[in-house]
Amino acid sequence: MARKKIIAGNWKMNMTPSEAVKLVETLKPLVQNDEVDVVFGVPAIDIVPVVEACKGTNIAVAAENMYFEEKGAYTGEIAPAMLVDAGVKYVILGHSERRDYFGETSEDVNKKVLKAFEHGITPIMCCGESLEQREQGITMDWIRQQVKVGLQNVTADQAKTMVIAYEPIWAIGTGKTATSDQAQEICKGIRECVAEIYDTDTAEAIRIQYGGSVNAGNAAELFAMGDIDGGLVGGASLKPDFGKIVNYK
Ligand code: PEP
Repeated sequence: MARKKIIAGNWKMNMTPSEAVKLVETLKPLVQNDEVDVVFGVPAIDIVPVVEACKGTNIAVAAENMYFEEKGAYTGEIAPAMLVDAGVKYVILGHSERRDYFGETSEDVNKKVLKAFEHGITPIMCCGESLEQREQGITMDWIRQQVKVGLQNVTADQAKTMVIAYEPIWAIGTGKTATSDQAQEICKGIRECVAEIYDTDTAEAIRIQYGGSVNAGNAAELFAMGDIDGGLVGGASLKPDFGKIVNYK
């Protein structure tokens, strides 16, 4: 089955609202490509102006996080209904920075994934190993665990529509990209894990991105691999280079 590639930027904690609008204006003409789904993952405060600036384009907007409760006394958190009302289509969940710096567990990520589906938001669920885990040879066991917990009680029909981002922590923001073979091996392993949880149809439908120092020079080789359906891009998504990544062919 031909899966449409999905290339998402993760702006992280960068860009004030006015800077964000300027960046969208710069990137808009560069990221036109109907063959791929283009997503800008932006800080919560930028969502409203970025959605407005992206109107009439091929760009969908993602939040970088979301809470798993509906509403109420959760100071500082953002509810799924707020994201929907603001025009958000995707949400990045379980990024390693959230897991490492804010103590998010795979159980939290699972609650968020389920809540996103309840509200019609497509989750981009991140997983990835540390350098230490890679050196210990436990990469695939760790990722399988993250994926299995993250997908608990997610139906096959829901899983078919979602995105998993494989992001080795040692490759994020370090300039050290996984080789295309390393990235393919783990993305294939994730697809096999999805097939075990559900079935082959679901595994063939789910989109699996690679993330970790993707740039204009390495995108084509990574995205040519059979189980890599696009990328989650940090640093390079803040530059005109993102246009080259989207038009990697
Ligand atoms: C990320 O933040 O998800 C990421 C992959 O960052 P970078 O591309 O900068 O490594």
